[in-house]
Amino acid sequence: MPTESTFLLAGLFLLLAAAGWALGRFGERDDEEAAPPLNIDYLKGLNFLLNEQTDQALEHFLAMVRVDDKTIETHFALGSLFRRRGEVDRAIRIHQNIIARPDLAAEQRDQALFSLAKDYLHAGLLDRAEKLFVRLAQGSRYQVQALENLCSIYEQEKEWEKAIDAGQKLQTLGGRSLALQIAHYYCELAEAAAADNNYTAARQYVKKAQAGRPRTMRGALTRAHIARESNDNKTAIRLYQRIIDEHTYLIAEALPEIVTTYESEKSTLGLDRALKSMLRKNPDMKSLVAYTAIVNNIGGIDIIDQCVEQYILDEPTLSEFVDLHQLSHADENTHAVALEKVRGALSKLASATPRYQCQECGFSSQRLLWQCPSCRNWETQRPASRVQFDTVLQHSITNP
Ligand SMILES: [Zn+2]
Repeated sequence: MPTESTFLLAGLFLLLAAAGWALGRFGERDDEEAAPPLNIDYLKGLNFLLNEQTDQALEHFLAMVRVDDKTIETHFALGSLFRRRGEVDRAIRIHQNIIARPDLAAEQRDQALFSLAKDYLHAGLLDRAEKLFVRLAQGSRYQVQALENLCSIYEQEKEWEKAIDAGQKLQTLGGRSLALQIAHYYCELAEAAAADNNYTAARQYVKKAQAGRPRTMRGALTRAHIARESNDNKTAIRLYQRIIDEHTYLIAEALPEIVTTYESEKSTLGLDRALKSMLRKNPDMKSLVAYTAIVNNIGGIDIIDQCVEQYILDEPTLSEFVDLHQLSHADENTHAVALEKVRGALSKLASATPRYQCQECGFSSQRLLWQCPSCRNWETQRPASRVQFDTVLQHSITNP
């Protein structure tokens, strides 16, 4: 039985054959007698396809590509069809065959190189794809697309210096700002340098990351981390403060660091005071603080414990399982024990559900990913501020 692919290909070639026939019949041909009413070579190829002899069909069309310019577009269409069907080896052979033509016009060569680069990308042959895109980025009508693909390859290969170079060229050529994307490339370098304890280099990269607009707070997180590692707690706290002032959602990342910083200063009172002042400015942050504390098992700090208790009392799903009345009116000991139990259970639940979700495509993950692996956008993830009971229930139904 012919496959869907065969039908698609057959449809394409019937169309092309018909177009060829119409052109031969009504087109501006001086020598109408010489023009065949239907291209016999296409019909041969079509016959192979209908008989599911895809390899013979491929060989036949590959031989045809050398015939004349009129067939070249058909071969591009055939190549792209093979690629989209996942038959990348066949697509590669078609495009390599086009490139091998000695009399190929420059524009057609670029088109074939671009198609071949996309085949390589599809096949996961990033090095080969990169070489072709680099060539096309130097001056062709595929310059912008080649640079976009190069950025994506360098992101996958974590070649951040090259990604910066391609991103800057793309920004100039494409006429749109890539400041945030480029800033994240610098942050990647900064984080790698900081992980190697090369703080001087890390600070320089952060500086470059912060030069563009819109600004990312990721560089400030790295600087705060460096300050903490260098026992400069004052700077670390000032930086965390600035990070939260700018993007309140980053409390999910900063809170555990802030707590550790104050603890190393043995200043629980200072921490309590700083958090209280933060929450006075942004009362909406309370549930995120509670949720972050639950996930990271942060306790024993008055203001955080208050947030957690309020969070538990406000959670409608919990009221079905826990006697919240007992929790709020019991004696001090019972109260503490009950609270601790609920908190422990919530912590377990929270660790089984995603904490971050991409606002663009909905992709979710346990830890913050600066670039969404699904839609490839930068800084589109936001933390959940509540335990996702729906997900937990769904999880337990599908994995009993
Ligand atoms: Zn996404």
